[in-house]
Order: sequence, then C-alpha cells, then structure tokens
Amino acid sequence: MNIILLGPPGAGKGTQAQRLQQDRGMVQLSTGDMLRAAVASGSELGQKAKGLMERGELVPDDLIVGLIENRIAQPDCANGFILDGFPRTEAQARALDKMLDKTGKKLDRVVEMEVDEKALTERIVGRFSCAKCGAGYHDKFKRPKVDGVCDVCGSTEFSRRKDDNAETMKTRMAAYRAQTEPLLPYYSARGVLRKVDGMAQMDEVYRQISGVLVGT
Ligand code: AMP
Repeated sequence: MNIILLGPPGAGKGTQAQRLQQDRGMVQLSTGDMLRAAVASGSELGQKAKGLMERGELVPDDLIVGLIENRIAQPDCANGFILDGFPRTEAQARALDKMLDKTGKKLDRVVEMEVDEKALTERIVGRFSCAKCGAGYHDKFKRPKVDGVCDVCGSTEFSRRKDDNAETMKTRMAAYRAQTEPLLPYYSARGVLRKVDGMAQMDEVYRQISGVLVGT
C-alpha cells in the first residue's frame, strides 16, 4: 500500500509515519529528512537546499522530484511507502503520478491530517529528536521516559531543527497554504483523500489513520 500523509508543518506526519513504518513494514519517505541528510553531508543538493530550508521556503521541484524518484525505485519500497512531506506542490503531485505510472505502482490513500493552526507553533517549537536514531520527542507532549535518554536506542544526544522556530514557522505556513493546500481538491477529485483529526491524542490519530487504510 502506498500513501501520502498531508498536512501543515507540525501536524504529526512524521510521528505517524514512523509508527506506520514500525507496525506495517512500509517505508517512510520524508523529503525533509532526506534534505537534512544532504545538508549535513555538504552535497551539491545540500548546499542548494540549506538556505531555503533555514528560511522555511520550498526547495525547487526538480531537485525534490529527482530525490523521490530514485528512492521509490529502491527494492525496499516494494512493500509500500508513506510519503511524508511530499508532494508539496501541484507540479510535484503531477510528477508523482508519472513516476507511479512508469513503475506500475498506485497511490492508495492520501490522508489529510486536519489541525488547528493555532496549536502548530507550540508543537513545532517544542520538538526535538534523538540524534542517533531519529525518534521524535516534544518538551511538553512527549518527553523521553527517562529524562535525557532516548526510549528507543538509549542515546543521550538529541537535536533540534534549525527551522523549528516561531519566525520560520510563518513562512512555512504561508508556503503550505499557497502551494500545498491546493493538493486537497486535486486528490479529492481522484477519490483517494480521507481526513483524520490531527488534534486528537497520538494513539487516536493512529487509530483513525488505520481506519481509513482499511480496504485499500
Ligand atoms: P519538513 O521536514 O517536511 O518540514 O521539511 C523541511 C523543509 O525542507 C521545508 O521547509 C522545505 O524547505 C524543504 N522541503 C521538504 N520537503 C519538500 C518538498 N516536497 N518540496 C519542497 N521543499 C521541501
């Protein structure tokens, strides 16, 4: 099964994608994570993306499409994938349609995570992740069970994203509204769009997502 998690920054796409990956053996494809890895490695792509990401602006479509096209062709994606943070523009959505056609794959569901915009900055500003395994945490909503120690891998090093601040959030939200929200009618017209309540508790959101994936 191949799905897209769609929603603004802070909607919980990464958290839910990690859990779907653990439980179902689907692969989480996060363009944000891929770009952060490219920035950390200092590659040409990373150098092009760095400033845009720090300002909260979108990286050009052609760079992102190339990144995803290579990834989707890898054997581990045959079991199904979860797109997290892609597509973010209509051009990306059309490119995805072409990629899927070419490889004989199909998009089974697009899950819209509906959230109250006012809550997003609080969610974004408090989040951090394990520097070793990437497990996600939050100062207020999801602290590690033992302070300073990752629940998953026991590491004591954590990191915070540079773009997770209230100022950059304004640009990221504006980009979402102008460029990504138009994808909702795009996918609704194809009959694959389903909504879940992204404001509910994490377990409840997961239950709702599992519900809309039944029968695909
Ligand atoms: P995310 O981790 O999904 O919040 O993405 C972090 C940043 O990476 C975004 O603010 C963009 O600068 C860039 N980015 C991630 N995915 C995309 C995409 N599909 N298209 C364009 N830019 C992206």
